[in-house]
Amino acid sequence: MFLSNYHFDTTKAHVEIAGARAINVLTPQALDTTTPYDWKGDFDLPGLAATIAEVGAANVAGLIITVTCNSAGGQPVSMQSIRESAALARRHGIPVIIDAARFAENAWFIQQRDPDYAGVPVPAIVREMFGHGDMFTMSAKKDALVNIGGLCCFKDDEDLFRSVQVRCVAMEGFITYGGLAGRDMAALAIGLREGMDEGYLAYRIGQVAYLGERLAAGGIPIQTPTGGHAVFVDARKLLPHLPAAQFPAHALACELYLEGGIRGVEIGSLLLGRNPVTGEQEPSPFELLRLTIPRRVYTNDHMDYIADCLIDIRQRAAGISGLAFDYEPPLLRHFTARLMPV
Ligand SMILES: *Cc1c(COP(=O)(O)O)cnc(C)c1O
Repeated sequence: MFLSNYHFDTTKAHVEIAGARAINVLTPQALDTTTPYDWKGDFDLPGLAATIAEVGAANVAGLIITVTCNSAGGQPVSMQSIRESAALARRHGIPVIIDAARFAENAWFIQQRDPDYAGVPVPAIVREMFGHGDMFTMSAKKDALVNIGGLCCFKDDEDLFRSVQVRCVAMEGFITYGGLAGRDMAALAIGLREGMDEGYLAYRIGQVAYLGERLAAGGIPIQTPTGGHAVFVDARKLLPHLPAAQFPAHALACELYLEGGIRGVEIGSLLLGRNPVTGEQEPSPFELLRLTIPRRVYTNDHMDYIADCLIDIRQRAAGISGLAFDYEPPLLRHFTARLMPV
């Protein structure tokens, strides 16, 4: 099995395709959306130690540190949590993998919120974060500011690198380009640095915070504080009449699309899916609607439009109906399922 603060959905799917189980060990502070906490992406460290003891270190294939923690609300992982969870894993001989799609936003939060890192340049914080991992995977479409591509990087483990290298040729492309065109790699080489520009990060994360402030002022319950790339609306609170089995956050996503042509995405029971062994719905700690803000695309007027649409929906929230499956695929169901109003 793999242990993580919270597995990103496609990361979890790959874990399950490989025949393993994906177990999340997230700080309980993240579950309370109304009480602000600086590090809602942190591990529950006592919980992590207890889980390793319970399942046996020999059965844990890897520790996955997701920065920022998307599913909890784009929330940062503190340097302390990265350091201590990695040290714990290392003591048990468990490899540490960083799922690094939003590495720059995480580093920016560390600089802003951890007094030990005030004034430390973002690239230096990034270097220290990655110093705690044995390898990382990165979807470069996020903080590396490119249209396509990703990275899979290894520190010391020659055997692991070789075994991935062999699969790379069959699954992606030759090891030097991994299926990417030359121009996409050239863009990536620039984007990895540009994504760490502090002026850009302050503007981007500030725009997300602005949307969060507008929504909170309009009485919309959100995960607080807002995260790096998105505002997460707490659909359990906005649509309390809908049970988890009727996917309240997805019902809200559909309503928002009808209202304003705005596409959000459910992070909750629909995404979490079923236990692969029992086929039962996994109990989700959240029913959130994620409003992810593309970078360098929108102005704050667009943020006002999103907020106005949601505030209108709030007036008629009690009349929004839940959803049930018309078609439910066996894997990654939230990407291709069809649902009907109940
Ligand atoms: C986007 C993302 C991925 C993978 O994305 P793909 O679209 O499947 O390439 C993995 N982990 C995290 C944390 C991400 O944000």
